[in-house]
Amino acid sequence: DVHHGDGTQGVFWNDPRVLTVSLHESGLSLFPGTGFPHEIGGPDAAGMAVNVALPARTGDGGWLRAFHAVVPALVEAFRPEVIVSQHGCDSHARDPLADLRTSIDAQREVALTVSHLAGRFCSDRWIATGGGGYDVIHVVPRVWTHLVGIAAGHPIQLGTPIPESWREYVRERHPERLLPGEDLPGSMGEEADTWWRSWDVGFNPNDAVDRAIMATRKEVFPLHGLDPWFD
Ligand SMILES: [Zn+2]
Repeated sequence: DVHHGDGTQGVFWNDPRVLTVSLHESGLSLFPGTGFPHEIGGPDAAGMAVNVALPARTGDGGWLRAFHAVVPALVEAFRPEVIVSQHGCDSHARDPLADLRTSIDAQREVALTVSHLAGRFCSDRWIATGGGGYDVIHVVPRVWTHLVGIAAGHPIQLGTPIPESWREYVRERHPERLLPGEDLPGSMGEEADTWWRSWDVGFNPNDAVDRAIMATRKEVFPLHGLDPWFD
């Protein structure tokens, strides 16, 4: 989700049994204005709140790099019994509400990775939910169809055509949702470039996304026995 998970963080703020991790657009530019790296949890749960505050306009490469530089290592260190993940798709470039620039393809990749983490560490105990998402034609139906497919153990390929019946339905029932001359998506993906640079190949202090990632790693990784630079 493009927004900080402030409610969930607040509920479990001082509970060492629950690790909350939020990747979101920085509170400097977006509601609710919280979710900075120094928010790490209460005195009994230091390191159990994790916040990656990404700069506005972060796209797939930065978003995926941040996810992979923070989430898998923490999951492996924390060893959860169950993963609950929220898949708000308002981080998409087309979303009218906020200003991250991810694609459907990247969001699908993150959902797949979360499912693999649940398989590896939690015997497949995984609860996945929707979340925010305000482009209800081009983005929300595809992202959450992918999510349901992944949760059901049958991921849908990105090149899969969208059923013509759905396209007809939207044209007839919700023409106001389309801009003049705009057509509906034809396939389940966007042919986005989802290449991301692994943290293993180094940290670039001149890159704003890398600085955001490093700020988070420095705050919480040592509290989980992890090295901010090398793990
Ligand atoms: Zn949201």
